[in-house]
Amino acid sequence: MRRELVCVSCPVGCQLTVEVQAGRVASVSGNRCPRGEAYAREEAVDPKRVLMSLVKVVGGERPVVSVKTDRPIPKRLIPQAMEIVRALTVPAPVRIEQVLAEDIGGTGANLVATRDVAQVR
Ligand code: SF4
Repeated sequence: MRRELVCVSCPVGCQLTVEVQAGRVASVSGNRCPRGEAYAREEAVDPKRVLMSLVKVVGGERPVVSVKTDRPIPKRLIPQAMEIVRALTVPAPVRIEQVLAEDIGGTGANLVATRDVAQVR
């Protein structure tokens, strides 16, 4: 199977061609540097993304806080991670970079707040 990808590892945006055979990367072409090959190999067989969402806050100046995983997680694990995010409620105050869930969905990544939410007095 042949896949065409655009490398997102830098602004150059090389067009990559990946040949996948029996679930393994047989070849990568079109990359101008080793980062492109590494990106293509991962993207073709086990793509990862940073999960971004919102978590409910109790007693805060806002009803929700924006969150993200502290590293990319496999796309195939995003649905189970989102189930945890949807069920999660945290008390105010929330501080930016505060860990709200460790090892979310067994991904090895932590879910962290991306902004402050002050407590309502
Ligand atoms: S292959 Fe290298 S030069 Fe090309 S977009 Fe990726 S990181 Fe940039």
